[in-house]
Amino acid sequence: MVKVSIVKCENYDHNRVKKAILESLELIGGLGKIIKPDDNVMLKVNAIAGFPPEHAATTHPAVVGAMVEIVKEAGGIPYVGDSSGAYGFTAQALELSGIKKACEEHGGKLVNFESTGTYAVKLNGRVLSSINVAKPALDCDVLVSLPKMKTHMLTKYTGAVKNFFGVIPGGGKAAIHRMAPTEESLSHAVVDIYSALKPKLAVMDGIVGMEGDGATNGTPIASNVILSSMDCVALDAVAPEVMGFSHRDVLTTCIAGERGLGVGELDCIEVVGEKINDVRLGFKKPSRIYYRLPTFLGRFVFKNAENMSRVEISNDCRRCRICVESCPVSAITLFPSPLIDQKKCIKCYCCHELCRSGAVKLKTSYLGRRQLKRWYPERL
Ligand code: SF4
Ligand code: SF4
Repeated sequence: MVKVSIVKCENYDHNRVKKAILESLELIGGLGKIIKPDDNVMLKVNAIAGFPPEHAATTHPAVVGAMVEIVKEAGGIPYVGDSSGAYGFTAQALELSGIKKACEEHGGKLVNFESTGTYAVKLNGRVLSSINVAKPALDCDVLVSLPKMKTHMLTKYTGAVKNFFGVIPGGGKAAIHRMAPTEESLSHAVVDIYSALKPKLAVMDGIVGMEGDGATNGTPIASNVILSSMDCVALDAVAPEVMGFSHRDVLTTCIAGERGLGVGELDCIEVVGEKINDVRLGFKKPSRIYYRLPTFLGRFVFKNAENMSRVEISNDCRRCRICVESCPVSAITLFPSPLIDQKKCIKCYCCHELCRSGAVKLKTSYLGRRQLKRWYPERL
């Protein structure tokens, strides 16, 4: 039976984090099972945008530093890589998140996927038929996902599987958002990407997670756990349960499980270390209206609710252009004043996710709020 380990870890002290990760790895069989001497080990971090570690949007540098050391001690050669959500901002994201410093201080090699070149990969995916994957993600001997435990505005949860969206550098992400603008289609696209990779391990930074409007605009929450598994899908079945969600509400997990890319059913997973019930938390869900509704109602009203809300830019905008560069449908202009063309906007929430000033807001219209209140008064 596939194993997912849960180990408590209360802070980001280097030695404490390293001990917790080592314990979590031992519980699933140890690194010796997957790393041979001189293997190139690519640690795929989450460096979505240039937020400091305490913002809890990116993999914490203490987890990165500890993993670099652990890989070296196992005989591997550690690399740390990602590409951020917006093209041209990866170097900034790796720097401001503290990941670059942690990688270099502990003896790892930093890789910016924007400058490594890509391989074109043909897929028989549900949404994607070909993708361009950063070369190191395919060239390495051992690929590892190092995600952050977070909510996500569109997919509800983001973890070990969705972390691999970052292997698509450059404008590739925007093109995928254009093709897959809904929760369901994006989840299929994420799993399509995952199907092209062969990760051997996931270690999740759940010491401080993010609740509410993740993946970057939520609130940090002390969640005090490290999760590990040699099956990214299984980890993504357990982690949402620890957060207080149902794993069956996470489409990437369900779809990847159904496609045989991992184990997505809790009943088929052995949870070792702490029990889920002993560490379960109550993460706030994303504020997208339909997600506050039960799943079947949520899906029923999804289209209407989406039509009643819009994404807007507030006066906090500092005109950094990250959202302009990342918008998949070029719906954003900054001059004479920041504006989103609502007719073009496909509500992918990339701008909301990448804005470091919190200037992008999700607004529900007055009429929309009244309508939903009439339908579901007890929920809103
Ligand atoms: S809305 Fe945010 S991301 Fe967009 S230009 Fe303004 S500050 Fe930058
Ligand atoms: S304006 Fe924002 S939410 Fe709308 S399509 Fe562009 S990036 Fe996505």
